[in-house]
Amino acid sequence: MKRVLITGGAGFLGSHLCDRFIKEGYHVIAMDNLITGDIRNIEHLFHLPNFEFYHHDVSKFIHVPGELDYILHFASPASPIDYLKIPIQTLKVGSLGIHNCLGLARVKGARVLIASTSEVYGDPTVHPQNEEYWGNVNPVGPRGVYDEAKRFQEAMTMAYHTYHGLETRIVRIFNTYGPRMRLNDGRVLPAFIGQALRGEDLTVFGDGSQTRSFCYVDDLVEGIYRLLLSDYPYPVNIGNPSEITIKEFGEEIIKLTGTSQKLVLKDLPKDDPKQRQPDITKAKAILDWEPKVSRAEGLRITYDYFKSLPEEELYKAAY
Ligand code: NAD
Ligand code: UDP
Repeated sequence: MKRVLITGGAGFLGSHLCDRFIKEGYHVIAMDNLITGDIRNIEHLFHLPNFEFYHHDVSKFIHVPGELDYILHFASPASPIDYLKIPIQTLKVGSLGIHNCLGLARVKGARVLIASTSEVYGDPTVHPQNEEYWGNVNPVGPRGVYDEAKRFQEAMTMAYHTYHGLETRIVRIFNTYGPRMRLNDGRVLPAFIGQALRGEDLTVFGDGSQTRSFCYVDDLVEGIYRLLLSDYPYPVNIGNPSEITIKEFGEEIIKLTGTSQKLVLKDLPKDDPKQRQPDITKAKAILDWEPKVSRAEGLRITYDYFKSLPEEELYKAAY
């Protein structure tokens, strides 16, 4: 049985990856300090003999007994309000955390896949973004703690690949959504659905003309699985190219939830990227991958999930 370590395994994406690797017959070790994750995301796996959970901070020395075939480094605050609240931890998990994972991988002879992000492109001046674009990041702006941590993480991973011959994979993830996102994590989709369910107006930042391209979680997980098993060591964008303005997205959520609330405009956060759309030519060519789930279908599943949560979840603060 192949053994995989998934850091950030109790988070939104990490928990879906745990499910996928269990389904594929792996022994899965999830590691998480629960700073933004939720143990309930993986509780359903606790009874399985091929699942283990380590409550541990990846930025501190990692010890995992036994063999490891793969390490997926997904631990990191991911939502802007999270990484603005815990900037130092964000920088540490992207630097010390990946260093620990790469060191562990060398000892175990494991392959490492890191969760990078479209944020390495910053506020992009090239559209859509392809992997050859170097980005437009403000290192000392509020988002710099996340963007630069992820850029450093890519550089460190390539260095281990080049100098130590370690097998590495880099996925640049574009905005992904689905069940198990935290209703109060501040990202636009849970923010809008939470507001609709509480009967509040939907807060559009800026004039809502900025764009994003939303990918359903199952599509992302499929792309990551294929990339891990491929032999391609350079960054690959995984995302859904279907692009929409945030204002139109708010209107879609109003329609979906049937709320009578309206959109209200709020200040645009500093350095908020104006446009974002993945160029997935590489993923198509190398992984034979493209997204399958339409936004209408993915939003319906995600809305049903949020509606099924206990009512008190709707009113919980972020921490
Ligand atoms: P999330 O907050 O739900 O999951 C992150 C998990 O990492 C949480 O469970 C958290 O407790 C854990 N964690 C954070 N710091 C840790 C540490 N020092 N030690 C151990 N565990 C730690 O966020 P997510 O959306 O699931 O994101 C997962 C990964 O994917 C992140 O690396 C993020 O940067 C990346 N990513 C996500 C998206 C997206 O749209 N969801 C887009 C681009 C990149
Ligand atoms: N946004 C918004 N209202 C909210 C939360 C976010 O208009 O309540 C906007 C935000 O300014 C950004 C877009 O939605 O332009 C996506 O934000 P999110 O935090 O989900 O992801 P990111 O900016 O990291 O892509």
